[in-house]
Amino acid sequence: QKGQIRVQTENIFPIIKKFLYSDHEIFLRELVSNAVDASQKIKTLSSIGEAKGELGELRIDVVLDAKEKTLSIIDRGVGMTAEEVDKYINQVAFSGAEEFMNKYKDANIIGHFGLGFYSAFMVSDKVELYSKSFKDESGVYWSCDGSPEFELYNVDYNNRGTKIVLHINEESQEFLDAERIRGILKRFCKFLPIPIFFSEAGVEKAGVEKEEEQEPINNTDPLWVKKPSELSKEDYEKFYKELYPFSETPLFWIHLNVDYPFNLTGVLYFPKIKQSYEIQKDKIQLYSNQVFVTDEVKDIVPEFLMLLHGVIDSPDIPLNVSRSYLQGDPNVKKINAHITKKVADKLEEIFRNERSSFEEKWESLGLFVKYGMMTDDKFLEKANKFLVMEDVSGKFHTLEEYKTATETLQKNKEGKTVVLYTTNPVQQDAYVQAAREKGYVVVKMETLVDAAFINTMEMKWDNVTFVRVDADIVDNLIDKQEGNDSILSAEESTKLKELFAIEIPELHVTTEVKGLSATTAPVVATRPEFMRRMKDM
Ligand code: ADP
Ligand code: MG
Repeated sequence: QKGQIRVQTENIFPIIKKFLYSDHEIFLRELVSNAVDASQKIKTLSSIGEAKGELGELRIDVVLDAKEKTLSIIDRGVGMTAEEVDKYINQVAFSGAEEFMNKYKDANIIGHFGLGFYSAFMVSDKVELYSKSFKDESGVYWSCDGSPEFELYNVDYNNRGTKIVLHINEESQEFLDAERIRGILKRFCKFLPIPIFFSEAGVEKAGVEKEEEQEPINNTDPLWVKKPSELSKEDYEKFYKELYPFSETPLFWIHLNVDYPFNLTGVLYFPKIKQSYEIQKDKIQLYSNQVFVTDEVKDIVPEFLMLLHGVIDSPDIPLNVSRSYLQGDPNVKKINAHITKKVADKLEEIFRNERSSFEEKWESLGLFVKYGMMTDDKFLEKANKFLVMEDVSGKFHTLEEYKTATETLQKNKEGKTVVLYTTNPVQQDAYVQAAREKGYVVVKMETLVDAAFINTMEMKWDNVTFVRVDADIVDNLIDKQEGNDSILSAEESTKLKELFAIEIPELHVTTEVKGLSATTAPVVATRPEFMRRMKDM
């Protein structure tokens, strides 16, 4: 037998109520984005002449009436006829947004699945809807108390658009708190394209004249939707402050703007960072058509770029994202790769065109770059060109430059380039000076990420080995000559070992005055690189 699965609405309703979203506050995002969609639709229809008459001021009002225990969302959008209410509202999971998009190719529409409206029942005992379509028909009234039964009839409702009245249920009284609602609106609706006003019924704001216009809670024209060519440095810095009021001015930014093969806009900022422990992840906000989705962008943004700040917006990432969904989504993979490429290109551009400024910022940049090189091979490939290492005299070298600068000098027996480094130029000064006197270049590897970076790069870079400057006497480090015998007697050597061993158990003592200038140190204590790394790991 073949047939159709039948769904019992009595059973499905409670499931929707309970499980549609784990976060109940999402209902407001859904209803406001429906109001935005309705407003965008009337704009589109009016611009192509399908909707006649005045467009009027498009705005969305969210009105809280704590006394009546209602929350209303009012828009001046397309509205619905009785027939449309029956089609779009009474049929769960039937999306008018999808239909509209297919017909008008309007990319500004948020809706997708035809479920959002029902999130209202997560917080309401009863939902009422008043609507008047732009088509010249009577106003309609619809209501439902969360059971599968509804009422629908004509009423006198003469403002084009829709008003949804939620009767907030007993468990959801938190949504009768003005600050809570304002907070949700600020979080999810801060950059929606239609002005949103929040007010409380019966509450007159002290000092605000009735006629005086309140401020909308949103910025309808956020920076990332504008053309990069129209924006100044100040605009980018101002927007950064809008996102992160207490942060320092960012180093630079990347304006993302792709419309094929996926849609992606946004601005990513490189924050100023002095120490890796200052890094705050989860600073990137994900939007979908200017609706806030989440600030957990793992999977969308490559791990190492989660250190960046800013906004990415892609309508190709659906609103009701879940972690497992994101991981498998092909668009998400493409977006991830695109962001990596953009960031690498930007870094290379700054490196090539403004090298001194690049070097000045290296203290902050180095961290991203090194982290990226360790974790992302695509990035590594590009970053090999602009990774720099600062030597103890303050000069910066790319790997290629380092190789050239030290070409004949710093190769070991196997012909590998030996990168001599110091983790502490002050403490290791004697070794550093000895190496410099021989003409060697010693680079600084002082940050937390460096130890891991060195280990990883030895595997990724061919023919390069890293040696800490105090791992042996300098002639042995480069390993071109035969090792020199100690000029100390065995007894003296043991004594010295004992002396140092108090602090460093695996101390390895070599005394070799030839490799050092007499003024710096007559005796050097060293610990082999492999021993130290074992211990550091
Ligand atoms: P979606 O937004 O994903 O399409 P919803 O459940 O949120 O699904 O809404 C279902 C449909 O109801 C919408 O597509 C739209 O046609 C209609 N609708 C909902 N809210 C409004 C509104 N404020 N104004 C006009 N139509 C609306
Ligand atoms: Mg919707």
